[in-house]
Parts: sequence; structure tokens; C-alpha cells
Amino acid sequence: MEIKKSIRGVQITDAVNKELENTGRSRVLTFKDKKGKQYLAHIEVESDKLAVVPEGKYLEHRCPHCGGRIKITSKGYFCEHYFDKGDACKWHCNGILSHRFILPHEIEAFLDGHPTVLDGCFNSQGRIFSAVLVESEVYGMSLSSVVGKCPVCGEDVLVSPLAFNCSCHEKLGEPYHLTLWRHIRGHEVTLDELKELLEYGVTKNEVMLIDDKGSLSKAYLRLSDDRKRIVADYNK
Ligand SMILES: [Zn+2]
Ligand SMILES: [Zn+2]
Repeated sequence: MEIKKSIRGVQITDAVNKELENTGRSRVLTFKDKKGKQYLAHIEVESDKLAVVPEGKYLEHRCPHCGGRIKITSKGYFCEHYFDKGDACKWHCNGILSHRFILPHEIEAFLDGHPTVLDGCFNSQGRIFSAVLVESEVYGMSLSSVVGKCPVCGEDVLVSPLAFNCSCHEKLGEPYHLTLWRHIRGHEVTLDELKELLEYGVTKNEVMLIDDKGSLSKAYLRLSDDRKRIVADYNK
């Protein structure tokens, strides 16, 4: 289990550590959000890492339009002013999009500006696809597979279950025109890293990759010279 002295500014005492060890969750503690507002949450051990889980039925992030709290309901996620009369805030996200449950941490990641890829969506024809959350004015949140612009031809880059692909590779008649695998040497490429790769050709931070000897090494992710693949830059 991950051991931390504090999490989000709240001290983890020996007593709390014991609770985590014994039951996998802590007592309810008072946390402060980025704007200094207090909220109640407990700490949970999730796959060996500590996570802050808010009490009650609200997300940790607030409504991107009006700053209201976001209520978690059986139908999805709604700005607390959604049901107000008159010109109320209409921000919401259905709990299921394209037959896929949207989990609280996925909405939180979107609201935090670091969205994650949602795998396992499928459309009415039964085609399985991957996507990211996007906001549309009329329907609230929806899904889109567009995750960037191709550095080779400027067309949209789409996320698939396996790779980030240029949307116009068929037009150009090149089967391997920009196919960036989502997993590189044991590392899952994040959308933030993809953005950096498409924009600057290299990631801002190093990641841990399995090198040729089979051990973990720090490396930057880089686009190959023809800008069609991701290569590991061990910086040696
Ligand atoms: Zn709102
Ligand atoms: Zn392209």
C-alpha cells in the first residue's frame, strides 16, 4: 500500500493509516478544494494507491459554467442549478454515453483539463470504438474520437482501441500514415503526451519504458523523423 504523510493538505495520522490498512478506507475527513471551500471525503485504497473519495453525491470539481456543485444522480451528472426554474445552468453529462458507463473519475479528469481515453463504447450498429468526452452546446457532454491534428497533413487524429490514427490515411493511400500505438514498451500514452507529441514532436516529461534489456528506463517519447511513429528517446 502507498504510504503518504499527507494527501491534499490533510495529514494522514497513524490512526488513519491503521484504518486504511485494516479496512481499505479511512474515517471521513475535511478537505479543501482548489478555491478553499471545505468538503467532506474519506481516503480509500484503490489498487495500492490512495484516493480521496468525496462524501455525498457531488463531484469534487465544480460546474464549468456557473461554479455550482455537480450532483451525481442515477441518470448522470448534473449541475445543481440544472433543475432551477427559468434560465438555469444546463450543464450535465448523462451517466451512460454510447452504451458505456461514464465514471466519476472520468468526468473529474475532463473537468481537470486532463481527459482520459474512454474505451469500450459502442454505437447503434454495434461497432466498438474509443473516444473522449467533449462538450456540445445542445446535449451537454458527448463523445468524440477526435483527439488532435495530424502533424503530417493537418487532418483530424482519431483515437481507436489500439492507436491514434490520422483520419485521412486512406485518402493519401498510405496504410501507415500516422499510426501512433497507444501502448509503447509497457507505457500507456496519455492524451497530454499525445498533444505534446503532435505539437512539439516530443513529450515534456520522461516516462518509464521497458528497454531492450527488459528493465524499466526513463525515456522521452518522440515522433520518428517521418513523424509517423512514436520512438523511445533514452537520452543516452
Ligand atoms: Zn452550472
Ligand atoms: Zn495525416
